Parts: sequence; C-alpha cells; structure tokens
Amino acid sequence: MRIFIETMGCQMNKLDSELAAGALRAAGHEIVEDRRQADAVVYNTCSVRQHAEQKVLSRIGADAQRKESGKRLLVAVIGCMAQRMGESLRRKYPAVDVVCSPGRLFDLPELLARAAAGAGGVSLDPARPAGPGEDDIARMDDLDLARDVSAAAGQSQAFVRVMRGCDFFCSYCIVPFVRGPEHSRDPSHVVQEVGRLVQAGRSEITLLGQTVNSYHWAGSGRAVRFSDLLAAVSAVPGLRRLRFVTSHPTDFGDDILQAMRDLPNVCPYIHCPAQSGSDAVLTRMNRGYTRRQYDEFVDRARTIVPGVVLAGDFIVGFPGETQEDHQASADLIRRSGYKNSFIFKYSARPGTPAAKKYADDIPQAVKARRNNELLAVQEEAGLAHHRQYVGKTVDVLVEGPSASAKKTARRKHESSSSPNPPIHASATGVSAAAPAAVQLMGRTTGDHIVVFDGLATLSGRYVNVQITDATSLTLLGCL
Ligand code: SF4
Repeated sequence: MRIFIETMGCQMNKLDSELAAGALRAAGHEIVEDRRQADAVVYNTCSVRQHAEQKVLSRIGADAQRKESGKRLLVAVIGCMAQRMGESLRRKYPAVDVVCSPGRLFDLPELLARAAAGAGGVSLDPARPAGPGEDDIARMDDLDLARDVSAAAGQSQAFVRVMRGCDFFCSYCIVPFVRGPEHSRDPSHVVQEVGRLVQAGRSEITLLGQTVNSYHWAGSGRAVRFSDLLAAVSAVPGLRRLRFVTSHPTDFGDDILQAMRDLPNVCPYIHCPAQSGSDAVLTRMNRGYTRRQYDEFVDRARTIVPGVVLAGDFIVGFPGETQEDHQASADLIRRSGYKNSFIFKYSARPGTPAAKKYADDIPQAVKARRNNELLAVQEEAGLAHHRQYVGKTVDVLVEGPSASAKKTARRKHESSSSPNPPIHASATGVSAAAPAAVQLMGRTTGDHIVVFDGLATLSGRYVNVQITDATSLTLLGCL
C-alpha cells in the first residue's frame, strides 16, 4: 500500500510519525509524500488546541467526499485525538477506518491490513489510572529501538524519546488523559538508540519527554535521575550536541543545571514553560509552583549555567485571568529575559479539569488584546536578548537554505519552467558559473536562529558565524 502520513502538533508526534512510518515500511508498505498518490492516509493528530482537531475533521470530510465519489482510500487516525475520541471517531465519521492511540502504534500495520480486507478497527490504551500494561510499554520501547536510523539520511538532528505520558495534570491539559501515566525508558536503551543514530551521522540529539526533567528510572535497582541520563548520553562518542525538551519548573534540581554546566556537549538551552506569572492563575492551572519559585528557578539557572538561554510558554485568557494577572505574566517575561516565548490564547479542551470546573469567561477580544500585548513584550525581550550576541562569533549547525532562499529558488524554478523562460548562461553558450552563495539558516547551541550567506553544500556542517545584527527572533551574520 502507498501511505501518506500527515503530522500535526508537537515534536512527540513527529517522532511517533517517524516510528509509525518505520513500522509500516517494515510491513511492506511505501510511504509517499503526495496524498493524491496514496491508498491510505494516516493523520497523526493533536488535541491540545481546538484548531488542530478541526483541521483533522475537515481533512476527514474531504476524504469522505473522495470515497463517496468512488476513490478507494483508507483513513487512519492516530495520536492524541484518536485516544480522546476513541470509538466515537468511527461512529461519527464513517470515512474513518482505523483509530489507534499513541501508546499502541505497534498495532497500526495490522489495523490497516484489516481495514484493507474490509474490517477496520480501533486500538486504544486502557484509560487511567491503569494505563498501558508492562507488555504494551515494552512493545512501544521495541518500536523506538527498532527505528530506521538510515531514514532521512543526511540529516544531522534526531529526536529520542526518554519517557512517555505525564503525571502533572495541569488543569487545562488533555495530555495526561490521552498519553497516560508517566513511564521513563531504560537508560541503556536510550544510550543504545543515540549510539545508533550518531553512527548513522546524526550529531545533534534532542531528548524528548512531556516533562523531560522528571525522568527517573529504578529498574536496575539503582535510581537513575535525569542528570545521570544526561551524563550517560553525553558520553556517546561522536555526539556533538545534546538538547532536551520540554522541562517542568518543579523538577529542575541543581544536579541537572550542574550537568548542563559540566558536560561540554549539553547545550545551554532550557525551554521551561511558565504559563502565567500570577499565583492565582498558576493555582487554578494546577501547575504546582508559585511565581516566586519560578523566579528562583530562573535565578538558579542563570547562576549555575553561564550564558544559559531560556524560552517560555504562556497561556493568555485563562478563566478568571484579571488585568493584574496579565500584567504579572508581562512582568515575568521581562524579568526572565526569554529568547522567545510561545504564547497561546486559552481554549477549553473537552475532558480537562479546567473545562469542567471553570467557565471560559474571558471574551475573545480581551484574549486577542492580551495575546498581542504579551507578544509585544516578548518582542522587546527577544530583541534585547539577541542584541547581546552582536560582535560575537557563534558555533552554528547549518540546517539549509533559509525560508526566503527557498522561496526565491521556487520562484526561479517556476519562471525557468514557464513557457517563455528568460535566457540564461547555458542557453547563450557561456559555461556555468561556480555555485553561488545562498542565504542559509542554522542554529546555535542556545537554539538561536542564525541567518547568513554561504554555499548550500554547508548544510549539516558546523561553522563559525560572526554576528553583525539581530532582530527579536534572529541573529544575522557572516561566515
Ligand atoms: S506538564 Fe502540564 S501542560 Fe505539560 S503535558 Fe503535563 S499536564 Fe500537560
């Protein structure tokens, strides 16, 4: 079968799609880039925001029309929305053939085979408090371990899961219900997977978890903390950069900060969502820390890890958020000096404690205004942060042509394949010139985006870039 996979949502979903693609290839299927060529489409869905779920439903609506007009097509829904809606997805949307939760991806090839034979099917994790059993956890771990490290050859970066699920129960969040209880992976499996990826040419690894710094493993009789895992993974020969996302402020002990300071390949970057700067809102969000504790974490991080770069997340318009609460969030952005923040307007998610307990009482117009105000404060903080680097030389992993270079290349390609292409060198008998520099984009150890001119062949290489200018989101420089 030719299968098209569309991924929505977070990095965890992107990794799940990679694993699902590997399992489907191993079962003899082909993964295609163009949905029009596909015999089956797999939607890897996100339930964190309403918008993401609406997008999937509109895709399913379009597929239903294609099926009604005679197209033979299988539709599978995996990811958080699959677990959240379960059987009801197939009942309400008959075009859906397969529903498979994120904790049972190993069932996907079998479910699609059954659907091709006309049966379809649903495979879901047992609901909390039970969650997946030991066998299912082991089968998911096998899927991680069996990943095809040669896929996406030439790429320098890879994500590696260190844990699944979440036990924090922030009141607005559906993740603990759809991804189940927290389970950390055996550290030796993580190290083994990183080793294979590095041998296959990946030099920058990002460890993934919903609350990655809560990682703990006691399976071998000795407790392994996240700082121990960092030490073990950083020792993999040939690993040049080690990152991790996403962190929770409550589990950030000094041992992790000291590991970041002492292990040379661990990047000095922490994405640690605050969500609000107000104690009243943090309590209703059930975040488990106060504003003072978050400030103390930022101060500790800056003291222990010299030059640490921080990024944040904020939700505006959470139920009951006053203007004072909102100002407290703006103040937190200024105080923390984030490189960037992801700022979202609150939307009630069905099944979450906040949706059951609190009326979504902040008008859309107020949410939109507060969103814009926080973005403006972050823009100022981001500009001040990025300006510190002007005049410095930074180590950059080149990811490839920048978005604007890609756009220019596309336009050139379109005009050269138009019916009346412009006359160019080869058409006039002049030999081709040396490859021209293009605008490249890469990232520093602190996750700054750096834009500079260079040859496209530098993609995947590490270069030194001297920073000459800065915007609120980008460093500009030259090789
Ligand atoms: S820490 Fe909170 S926001 Fe993050 S996944 Fe867990 S419940 Fe959701």
